[in-house]
Amino acid sequence: MKKVGILGGTFDPPHLGHLFIAQEVQYKLELDEVWFIPAYEAPHKRKSRTDAVLRLEMVEAAIAENPYFRMESIEVDRLGKSYTFDTMELLQEMHPDTAFHFIIGADLVESLHTWHRIDDLVDKLTFVGVGRPGYELMTTYPVTYVDIPELEISSSMIRERVKQGAPVHYLVSGAVFDIIKEQKLYAER
Ligand code: ATP
Ligand code: MG
Repeated sequence: MKKVGILGGTFDPPHLGHLFIAQEVQYKLELDEVWFIPAYEAPHKRKSRTDAVLRLEMVEAAIAENPYFRMESIEVDRLGKSYTFDTMELLQEMHPDTAFHFIIGADLVESLHTWHRIDDLVDKLTFVGVGRPGYELMTTYPVTYVDIPELEISSSMIRERVKQGAPVHYLVSGAVFDIIKEQKLYAER
């Protein structure tokens, strides 16, 4: 069986926290690949103000230099609410020889009980939880924990910093920084 990690998210924008957890879990669990899946519309979030096409472009740019990483645009292509259950059902149909490892930060570990069809989902894949400052790694669902150095970086924090005019160029990759600048993302509108 091929071992593939999945990192779903809004990626508005993708930051070094995302890249670091993906790389660290790949290394510790010896995954063959990690697939980044930008959500079209995250079920528990307000619709992202940043166009999905731009978020795909930023993720593509962020992961380009890493041979383990690739992007899967399946949720953006599908439009509507991006339920992980639907996505994983489809991916498993397309890749029956693959064991999927769904990577989530501690904030999502805490919220697993609210996910659409979570009881079916935990039977289909392995959840891999990583720590995140300010959240407890606690749930009644089966989660494999991977111990990693925690980085206090979030997309919300980056959006807020850009709005305030604070520097963000060592919190996101250079290529993502260039897109944020060119497209004038996150500035006061
Ligand atoms: P936002 O602030 O907009 O919610 P975010 O930084 O949480 O953005 P998401 O796209 O929501 O980024 O997260 C995608 C996945 O990455 C989630 O599983 C989230 O828990 C995880 N993640 C993001 N940043 C970190 C981090 N610094 N440490 C650990 N996990 C993280
Ligand atoms: Mg988040």
